[in-house]
Amino acid sequence: LAQPPARAHDLLRELWGYDSFRWRQGEIVARLAAGGDALVLMPTGGGKSLCYQLPSLLRPGVGVVVSPLIALMQDQVDTLRQLGIRAAFLNSSLSAEGVREVEAALRGGELVLLYVAPERLLMESTLRLLEGVEVALFAIDEAHCVSQWGHDFRPEYQGLGVLAGRFPDVPRIALTATADDRTRADIVSVLGLEGAPQFIASFDRPNIQYRIAGKDSGKKQLLDFIRAEHAGDAGIVYCLSRKSVEDTAQFLSESGVPALAYHAGLDHAQRQQAQERFLREEGLVVVATVAFGMGIDKPDVRFVAHLDLPKSMEGYYQETGRAGRDGEPSTAWMVYGLGDVVNLRRMLAGSTAPEWVQRIEGAKLDALLAYCESTACRRESLLAYFGQNYQGPCGNCDNCISPPQVREMTREAQMALSAAVRTGNRYGAAHLTDVLLGRETDKVRQWGHHALPTFGVGADHDERTWRGVLRQMVSLGYLEAGEHYGLSATPKSRELLSGEVPFLLREEVLRPASLGARKAR
Ligand code: ADP
Ligand code: ZN
Repeated sequence: LAQPPARAHDLLRELWGYDSFRWRQGEIVARLAAGGDALVLMPTGGGKSLCYQLPSLLRPGVGVVVSPLIALMQDQVDTLRQLGIRAAFLNSSLSAEGVREVEAALRGGELVLLYVAPERLLMESTLRLLEGVEVALFAIDEAHCVSQWGHDFRPEYQGLGVLAGRFPDVPRIALTATADDRTRADIVSVLGLEGAPQFIASFDRPNIQYRIAGKDSGKKQLLDFIRAEHAGDAGIVYCLSRKSVEDTAQFLSESGVPALAYHAGLDHAQRQQAQERFLREEGLVVVATVAFGMGIDKPDVRFVAHLDLPKSMEGYYQETGRAGRDGEPSTAWMVYGLGDVVNLRRMLAGSTAPEWVQRIEGAKLDALLAYCESTACRRESLLAYFGQNYQGPCGNCDNCISPPQVREMTREAQMALSAAVRTGNRYGAAHLTDVLLGRETDKVRQWGHHALPTFGVGADHDERTWRGVLRQMVSLGYLEAGEHYGLSATPKSRELLSGEVPFLLREEVLRPASLGARKAR
């Protein structure tokens, strides 16, 4: 049973032009072709589409693909048509006339694949229509959308449970790139896949070197990094705002690194052109907001750099995962500073999303920040987040290559808390640093802070160390940022004051932007 029929190999070569199956694609195809169900967890770019497209050709009837990404359906259908596979989609972007045409093709048994948005599939009229034709299989793509713990929960997805009851003889395959245990359990129970085998790929990308450093002069650090290690290479640089995208692209271009800006403020034609140039030209750097990358399949992206923090570990994994699809050594490089942490925390605090969403988003941001501050093997921490047990050291991340120094600085953290509390929990990091260092600035004198017992208690350390302490305290939730970026002590800070929990500072050794010529194996 594990062997796909010979015809599967022929189609793989003739239609797709691939020599062989990747990983366990062959087994999955064989199982579906024989009428069995499956759950597939595979990272983005792993090759999930083939797992349902090929069996849809092998079985009689139409393969119905449920996808929430309406914007990508057209592309997928176009790609299939170029391969000579009859495909169509049903979603809210079609006119009434367009819908009638697709329905007619479906009734006439002319389609091999039909992409459909979940809310459309669950309309009684669509379910009836499908009951009247032969269905080869149901593929539930982005299946993590059934789970409230997933990063994009969609209530419509929970309704997909009806498929098992209404189409008992049609095999179902659920696919996702989100692998944590909780999400997986939700997928199985909502979609009724209790008996189905689970195909879980490794999420490790061994050729990607993970590196994270403190930010001082973001753009300059980026330029040094590119010059030292990736001169002439294609890369993607992620920034949070349009403005920083444009500034950074201009800065790189002026410094001799060919760079393009890409963000949602550009019109469709400009974005299309940027994508095409990136795919076609060699050694181009795209500076982009997260809008860039969906559906981009360029194998030789040599580095992905983050000048601003992503929102979650899922985002980080997805964005860095665009590097090195060809398996060659690549770098995932990121710098972040206190300002970034404060900004993200504030954005979250000011969110109007429902309480439960904010709680989940808060937990996701906490996980990301803990990952950034961690002194453990990055790969081990990253994979652990996705439920995979990987034993470091990996030898190909910053923490493995040059283990960071850790210093116990509980007393310093207590000093910082005291500075925040005694100044009324409303001053930003710069002012608190002045107070700790004993600098008599105008602002210090104006508020009488030079008379506080905390004034100057931290003069043994330099400004850089204090910024590191404050950043880590905000990251770990001991201080929180309020209005006008003022930092205040949180209830959690009590564990620091009582000395219950030590405060371990990851030393801000000024890491060279480059780790030398040392590349991945
Ligand atoms: P996913 O949906 O998991 O993100 P895709 O199905 O889009 O991944 O596939 C990612 C890339 O891998 C595509 O460029 C696809 O053409 C390629 N691919 C998939 N399977 C194979 C294979 N067996 N051999 C070679 N390339 C493959
Ligand atoms: Zn490592």
